[in-house]
Amino acid sequence: ETPRSDAFVFFGATGDLAYKQIFPSLYAMQRRGHLNMPVLGVSRSSWDKGKLVQRARDSIAEHGQIDEHVFAGLAEHLEYVAGDYQDEDTYRRLRAALGQARRPLHYLAIPPGMFDVVARGLAQSGCARDARVVVEKPFGRDLASARKLQAMLTETFAPESIFRIDHYLGKEPVQNLLYFRYANVFAEPIWNHRYIDSVQVTMAEAFGVQGRGSFYDGVGAVRDVIQNHMLQVVSLLATEPPPAGHPDAARDAQCKVFQAMCPVLPQNAVLGQFQGYQSEPGVAQGSKVETYAALRLDIDNERWTGVPFFIRSGKCLPVTATEVLVKFKPLRHAVFDTASAKQATGAAAGSQANYFRFRISPDVLLCVGARVKLPGEAMAGETVELAAHHQAADEMSPYERLLGDALRGDPALFARYESIEAAWRVVTPLLESGTAPLPYQPGSWGPQQAAGLTAAAGGWHDPQPPDSKP
Ligand code: NAP
Repeated sequence: ETPRSDAFVFFGATGDLAYKQIFPSLYAMQRRGHLNMPVLGVSRSSWDKGKLVQRARDSIAEHGQIDEHVFAGLAEHLEYVAGDYQDEDTYRRLRAALGQARRPLHYLAIPPGMFDVVARGLAQSGCARDARVVVEKPFGRDLASARKLQAMLTETFAPESIFRIDHYLGKEPVQNLLYFRYANVFAEPIWNHRYIDSVQVTMAEAFGVQGRGSFYDGVGAVRDVIQNHMLQVVSLLATEPPPAGHPDAARDAQCKVFQAMCPVLPQNAVLGQFQGYQSEPGVAQGSKVETYAALRLDIDNERWTGVPFFIRSGKCLPVTATEVLVKFKPLRHAVFDTASAKQATGAAAGSQANYFRFRISPDVLLCVGARVKLPGEAMAGETVELAAHHQAADEMSPYERLLGDALRGDPALFARYESIEAAWRVVTPLLESGTAPLPYQPGSWGPQQAAGLTAAAGGWHDPQPPDSKP
């Protein structure tokens, strides 16, 4: 049993992440009665408590209805500490504002270049004693910088007090990947190379860099989403069932999958850049940053050898949707729908393979692609989808859940350092290849060359807009 943190401190209180995620999560925690502690926003801007409360109100109103009683409770906890991160006095004032609190949780919602300055300031002022720290993804920008960041953080914080957030791990449909696998007798026995032909994970965005060009141009698709969110999803799809009741066994198993992932060679990947990217504000002329990446990942272990995991993400694609498709091999012995039967009935060609389709966003769906007989004389069939629609009732957002977990000291849904290191190893050959991304039309599914990656596995599965037929 670890004691709960007794104050929540967030650096970067004036920033984008605070606005989009932290205020709405704090409000939701307050509404559930989970937030009875000082909540201190820190930034350089010369704001005061009133300005912070107004910012919180704007953020929460933009994300939903405000219950004034709940908001008043939240506002009571809020305080603002203004100061330069280089200045010792900032941390003295922070320590004073913490009052009786002795075990704060520090959330670093600031540019990663400032992490070490803040960690040092917290250590020197005593604000880091018995404290926890949350750091955002991406954790480093390559293997070397991730190691450096980990070494720097462990100088100040105990390893079990460092929480590396990847909000994908807090998403309900992502957790359901594990639940579905382990809670259904029909799933786990066929969840391996003997039955699964290929796995695809697509995270498509129908928008561009949305005014964050200068941020994105230093990052690109591989660092922004593949090294973290998408490999985390793959690790959950591929992990071994852990023994029940051992809190860290699931993360141990997941870590082993990361370590079994083979580095992705440039010939197994296609990088792209949408046409017009270089005219976005903040983007360098001649930028070689990829806004699209598609790749084939292999996992070198008993369960998965020979099964390709195709991963794809891009901006300015036709839809905004994230989907996983687990495609099964054809039946070894086909009684129906054989080639000759099809010829006789004139049944449409197309894949007869069974599949599971996990729609992760924007809507949540779990579909089983199954064969059923078409009415009529012939024993001929079609593929239908048996679908479960997820009904959200007062659901926790990923950030609300993860902040609550970090305050309690529960690491289960946070990324292990060893997994992050392994994930950087997977993408290192791509980051170092130096090849220019291929251009693609905004609104298309990316460079044509990506078709070659999946050609032998039946092509890419393109997620559709919500409420349209697959
Ligand atoms: P941001 O809006 O660019 O910056 C956050 C705050 O940091 C700013 O309001 C600014 O506040 C302060 N700041 C900016 N540059 C600084 C500098 N050079 N020195 C000291 N302070 C500086 O960043 P963000 O989008 O909120 O992201 C924060 C962290 O979350 C980053 O590590 C990012 O990678 C990560 N992240 C963000 C998102 C997102 O959706 N935004 C998603 C995932 C991860 P003051 O000027 O008032 O001090």
